[in-house]
Amino acid sequence: MRVFKFGGASVNSIERIRNMAAILKNHSSEKILVIVSAMGKTTNALEKVAEAFHAGRKDDALTLFGQVKTHHQEMAKYLLVRNALSTEKQLLNTFTEVEWLLHDKPVREYDYYYDQIVCAGELLSTQLISAFLDESGIWNTWIDVRDVFRTDNHFREANIDWDITLQQVKDTVLPAFRQKDLVITQGFIGATSENESTTLGREGSDYTAAIFANMLDASDQTIWKDVEGVMNGDPKLVSDAVIIRELNYDEVIEMAFYGAQVIHPKTIKPLQNKNIPLFVKCFLDPQLPGTIIHNRVLHDLPPMIVWKLNQALIHLHSRDFSFVGERPLASLYEIFAAHNMRPNLIQTGAVSLQFCVDDRPDKTDRFAHDASGLFDVNIEKGLIMLTVRHYREGMVEKLAAGRKIILRQQTPETIQVLMKVE
Ligand code: ASP
Ligand code: MG
Repeated sequence: MRVFKFGGASVNSIERIRNMAAILKNHSSEKILVIVSAMGKTTNALEKVAEAFHAGRKDDALTLFGQVKTHHQEMAKYLLVRNALSTEKQLLNTFTEVEWLLHDKPVREYDYYYDQIVCAGELLSTQLISAFLDESGIWNTWIDVRDVFRTDNHFREANIDWDITLQQVKDTVLPAFRQKDLVITQGFIGATSENESTTLGREGSDYTAAIFANMLDASDQTIWKDVEGVMNGDPKLVSDAVIIRELNYDEVIEMAFYGAQVIHPKTIKPLQNKNIPLFVKCFLDPQLPGTIIHNRVLHDLPPMIVWKLNQALIHLHSRDFSFVGERPLASLYEIFAAHNMRPNLIQTGAVSLQFCVDDRPDKTDRFAHDASGLFDVNIEKGLIMLTVRHYREGMVEKLAAGRKIILRQQTPETIQVLMKVE
C-alpha cells in the first residue's frame, strides 16, 4: 500500500488534472490511497467567503461563493462526459450545504464557520477528480474523509482522535481497497463526534497523508509538488539553492522548526513512528528522482538556509532589578501558551530577557500588553531572522551583508542571527 498526496497546485487546471491521471496510470497495478487538496487557490477564496459571512456581509459571501461554484462547474464541464450528470448532483449537494449556512446569521465563533465553509474546497476537488479518473479508466472509490478522520472541536487546528480514526480506517478504507486499487479522499479536513466539519491547519494535507500512511502501514508516502524536490533554501530568497536528494526526518523537523516551508511540520512524526519513507517528487516531470526522506543518519549535508521576515524582538526587563528566575519565566511561558505563541529564539540575562517571534498583528501587541503586568516591555519590529544549519565559516556574514546583526546564537550545528535592515 502506498500513499500519494497531490497539493492544490497539482490540480489547478484541466491540464494538470490530466497530468495527475497520467501519473496514476503509471502506477496502475498498485494499491494507492490518494489524498487531494482543494484546487489551486480555492482555500484562500473560501476563507474570503467565511470572513464576509462572519462580518455580516451576507451578499458578499454569497457572491464570493458563487465564484467558487462557477469555477468548479466549469471544470466539470470540460473534464466530464459520462459522469457529468452524477457529479453535477454531487457538487450541488456540497454547494447547498455551504449556501444553507450562508443564509443563516452567524451566531457562533468565526473558527467554527471557517471550517464549515472552507472544507468544501477539498470535497469539490475530489468529487471532480474521482469522476474524471473513473472516466479515464482509473477505477477508484471516493471517500468523504469526514467519515474517517475523527477530531476534537478545536476548529481550524483540530486534533485527531487516534483510536476512533484508526478504527474507522479499518472499517471504511481497508474494505474499499478490497474492491478497487485506488481510494481518493481529501486532505486537511475531518469531523467531530457531532458531525461538524473541522480543519487541521493550513497546508494540513501532508499531515493527513502521513496519518493514513501510518494507519495503513504504507510502504511509503509521496508528496507531488511543482518543484524538483526539497531544496536547501527557498529559491526566491537563496539564489544558489540546490536540490537535496536525501534527507532524514530529524533534519526535516529541524528545518520546519526554523521556518522552512518544505513540508507541514506535523507530517514527520506519524511517518517516523513507523519508519515509512517520504518521497517528494515533481508532478511536472515524474522521471526526476526528487528527494527521499528516511530515518538513517546522513553526513555532509549542505548548509540549509532559512530566511524569516517580519520578526519582532521583544525585550523584557524586570521592574525592580530582581533576577529573571524560575517564577517570572514560568508566568511568561503561561502567557506564551495563552496566546498560542512560540518564540523563534530566546536569550536570557540577569534582569532582562529578549525573544523573537513572528510579528502577527493580532498577537504581538496583545502579548506585550499581558507581559507588561510583569515586566517593562519594549518591542522592535520589522526584523529579519536568518538561520543556517550546517553552516560554514564566514557564511552568515556573507549572507547578512549590508544588514546590522543585533542578536546571534550559535551551536556547532546551527547559527541564527537577527538583523535590522539599515
Ligand atoms: N487546501 C488547504 C490549504 O490550502 C490544505 C492543503 O492544501 O494542504 O491550506
Ligand atoms: Mg498545498
